[in-house]
Amino acid sequence: MTMILTIGWLYPTLMSTYGDRGNVICLQRRCQWRNIPVSILPLDAESDYSKFAQVDLIVGGGAQDRQQEIVMRDLKGEKAKILKEVLRDGVPGVFTCGSPQLLGHYYEPAFGERIEGLGILDLVSKHPGNNAQRFIGNVVFDISVTSLVQELSVFWNDLPRVIGFENHGGRTFLGNVAPLGKVIKGYGNNGEDQTEGAFYQNAIATYAHGPLLPKNPFLADWMIYKALSRKSSSNKVLLDPLDDSLTLKARTSLLMRYGLG
Ligand code: GLN
Repeated sequence: MTMILTIGWLYPTLMSTYGDRGNVICLQRRCQWRNIPVSILPLDAESDYSKFAQVDLIVGGGAQDRQQEIVMRDLKGEKAKILKEVLRDGVPGVFTCGSPQLLGHYYEPAFGERIEGLGILDLVSKHPGNNAQRFIGNVVFDISVTSLVQELSVFWNDLPRVIGFENHGGRTFLGNVAPLGKVIKGYGNNGEDQTEGAFYQNAIATYAHGPLLPKNPFLADWMIYKALSRKSSSNKVLLDPLDDSLTLKARTSLLMRYGLG
């Protein structure tokens, strides 16, 4: 039986404000280049909750406060329950900015009521109001999750230094959840504690748009490897290497701009 990987895409019409659809495209193309059959499954208000259980990978993008509020009117009940279950069970995911804010306990937007989150990630996010500095610009951070650094070394023979672009007003504060990384350049979760993102099971939460995965292909390959390993219940999955020479040039150029090359 041919094994097809299903990429679940959370609310694609509401949470794609900052180009994070590039993460879906990157996963899709890096599978196709390896002849791994892959399908993209939108998970949104029109989706039956059962669809949320059919995913092998999940992508959640960024959004403005208003769209986040609309999403949370729908992402509740069985949909929320199943999303919690699949992430707890280790389905690999990448959640950017507005998405992880909703996976936390709550997000207090610039205006309006607090948006209650799913409580999957032990974190809270607060927007200090539109007069506060918005965190916008290139961001560079080093993965600080030891187990993830070790696993990424299979796909990348260098320090897993992540490059992205952040654009958020919200500040995120972590509870009992591991930060994804340590900020080298930029603001990260809150511009204060040098943490960036969060890591839970096989879910990557980050403020880094970019889009993230094309700029950091080792993260995409790690996600694909995790999904294939779960689906085939084998730890002998091998991914053919791809030509990432153009990506390497772009990364070197940006890192040199900050004296990090
Ligand atoms: N609206 C949220 C904020 O301003 C998320 C923004 C985003 O997804 N880039 O923090």
